[in-house]
Amino acid sequence: PATLKARPGNNITVAVRVRPPTRRESAAYGSVVKVHPPDSLVFDGVEADRAGVPAHVRGAARNKAYTFDAVFGDNTGTAEVFAMTLPLLDDVLAGVNACVFAYGATGAGKTYTMAGTPSEPGVMVRMVEHLLQRMAVADEAYELSISYLEIYNEKIFDLLVPSSGPLPLRADGKGGVTVAGMSSHNPRTIDQVMQLLDHGNANRTQAPTDVNATSSRSHALFEITVTSPRHVGKMTLIDLAGSERASKTNNRGVRLREGAKINRSLLALGGCIRALCDGSSHVPFRNSKLTRMLADSLGGSSRTVVLACVAPTASSYEDTFNTLHYCERMKKV
Ligand code: ADP
Ligand code: MG
Repeated sequence: PATLKARPGNNITVAVRVRPPTRRESAAYGSVVKVHPPDSLVFDGVEADRAGVPAHVRGAARNKAYTFDAVFGDNTGTAEVFAMTLPLLDDVLAGVNACVFAYGATGAGKTYTMAGTPSEPGVMVRMVEHLLQRMAVADEAYELSISYLEIYNEKIFDLLVPSSGPLPLRADGKGGVTVAGMSSHNPRTIDQVMQLLDHGNANRTQAPTDVNATSSRSHALFEITVTSPRHVGKMTLIDLAGSERASKTNNRGVRLREGAKINRSLLALGGCIRALCDGSSHVPFRNSKLTRMLADSLGGSSRTVVLACVAPTASSYEDTFNTLHYCERMKKV
């Protein structure tokens, strides 16, 4: 299994997961993304030609190769993807904050990777499972609590008590912020974690768009707080809103504004990560709710794992290119 490589001056690890084609997709096209384990992939120009991807879309991506910390093909289970995030466990038990992002277009596999299904639990479930196991054998008296919230249109909602929102952000006096009125929960078993996740996911805001009738326009943040008598560590696992551009969804009015706000949050996140990679002294955390909430978990000694999710087929070519391009910039120090 892949492990985290220490990159000097940069605590960001980027792994790409290419999901399998759906039956409909594989009937129509071959894969335009060829995975070369353990850490590379290439846009297949021949396949893109065959699938009729227009030249202006194909453009610079034709036969372009990418290298990340890890690249997972469609025969990879979530256990292997989760292994990339294992070092964060020790961090949070030691009182160091950390975060994991699933980034990618709608339909690329973010929710599958983070929340998962009963037969293939996601990173959120596996993380709590491993933490509970570690806490059970630890000398220290750890306590674990979780919150699950969404940021939708720059408003924060408790996914586990949706009637309480929208909730305000308050400075916690320690350089971070807290969400006033957010509920916290103490699951003791994996079944209880799954129940909380299912309940929360059912409360996520789903807005119909031209692109995908169930496209998720909100960022979902699963916060795990581990408290010991000596310190507190927080891990935030984030299923980001779809990264496809608002223009592509061809929306008007309300939905367009929504798209613009989502882009602003993703843009703010990109801006912060780039500032951290460049070693800039100013990281623009204040530009969005998402980045304000992560100000105490990004940078410094905090490790970040980005799980970039992409679909393999020609119909997703542009989204895949944009996702890889966005994530490639994170590697550059
Ligand atoms: P997103 O959250 O990025 O919009 P989803 O996670 O909902 O995308 O995935 C879209 C569809 O593809 C879902 O039906 C999901 O079950 C399926 N899927 C995604 N990733 C995988 C995978 N690695 N293996 C099998 N099915 C997947
Ligand atoms: Mg989703």
